Amino acid sequence: MHEKILTEVEKLENQIVNTLIRLCSIPAVSPHNGGEGEDKKIQELEKIIHELGLADKAKIKYEYVDDDKAPSGKRPSLFLEYPGKKSQRLCILSHVDVVPGGNLKPFVQGSKLYGRGVCDNGAGLVPSLFALKALLNAGLESEYTVLLAFVADEETGSHYGLEKLIERDLFRPDDLVLVPDWGNEKGDFIEIAEKSVLRLHFKVTGKQVHAAYPNRGLNACRVANMLAYEVDEALHKAFIEENKIFEPPFSTFEPTRRFANVPNVNTVPGEENFSFDCRVLPEISLDEVQDLVEKICKEIETSLDGWGSKIELQVEKSPAPAPTSPDSEVTRLLIKNIREVLKLEPFLGGVGGGTLAAFFRQKNIPAVVWSQVSEDSMHQPDEFIEIKFLVNNAKVFALMMAEAI
Ligand SMILES: [Zn+2]
Repeated sequence: MHEKILTEVEKLENQIVNTLIRLCSIPAVSPHNGGEGEDKKIQELEKIIHELGLADKAKIKYEYVDDDKAPSGKRPSLFLEYPGKKSQRLCILSHVDVVPGGNLKPFVQGSKLYGRGVCDNGAGLVPSLFALKALLNAGLESEYTVLLAFVADEETGSHYGLEKLIERDLFRPDDLVLVPDWGNEKGDFIEIAEKSVLRLHFKVTGKQVHAAYPNRGLNACRVANMLAYEVDEALHKAFIEENKIFEPPFSTFEPTRRFANVPNVNTVPGEENFSFDCRVLPEISLDEVQDLVEKICKEIETSLDGWGSKIELQVEKSPAPAPTSPDSEVTRLLIKNIREVLKLEPFLGGVGGGTLAAFFRQKNIPAVVWSQVSEDSMHQPDEFIEIKFLVNNAKVFALMMAEAI
């Protein structure tokens, strides 16, 4: 049976490439990034679903999230549910939107397909459709009920996509969820965990004066430098834990953004604003990190007592959900079929945070992130995908649909 499915997928290679070209010729950039949103691209996708004959037995529905900035006032996501032998569902969820820029006239060159969105997330989206098509062409019924979800607004944070949809009655605790939105060229990396994200925003107030008379004011730039240095040192000393499933295996605490202060060189600035971006191992409490940072702020404020310096701290916290278990059904099902298609042993690991799988993990629905992709080309102007990766992704998805673990 497996050979038959794999052969059917191979026969679809040209159609997979042509469908991806057709879809990626339609821009789907967020209105919050200067684009028109997903309307046109998702309508074309629905047309393709009908043309492939996938609509005959499937339930197809749109879900909308209001967005004042979108031309239609809302952002569309599309769901296709195709019945299988079991009522339990295998859900493959990809996103329709793309980042701005890049090539909107996709073209094939050598072994690669170039164009904005062909990799992120076309390399997951189109193969998921053709995996189902290959099963039907092989005359087989899928084991699981197949739920293909095509969602809006991943690239700007999912506020008009999965963040809202996950609160509706669309997913079930026993769904097996695969998000083909990250991976590597070998196809051996399965993401099951992520770090917590902590963002620290500091505002230091001093007193602005002429640079020739610093004694008459308080230099907010110097206080900010001191504060940033102390926070950097203290966090790296206090949280040294390592967890080998992550790369890098430790928590990261990075000073990142610094706002402009004064426009001229001979003025002592009276205000400084800067931020840290921290990716913290899930086993470390974000409250503990915050407590330490607050303590340092207080100490520096106290040491400058009498100078009128003020330090304000604003904190954004997104604690990581519990990792998806390596023993969960979806993880085992995926591993088995990667082995079969790619003839290699995949490894399980964690990333720095922010995948669509996190929304499912927050709801205790096990979700894994995997695909074989040209990872370095994602978000680049010359985004591309190796055509054989598209075929491999479709093969793995089709075998996952076909037979339960
Ligand atoms: Zn993506």
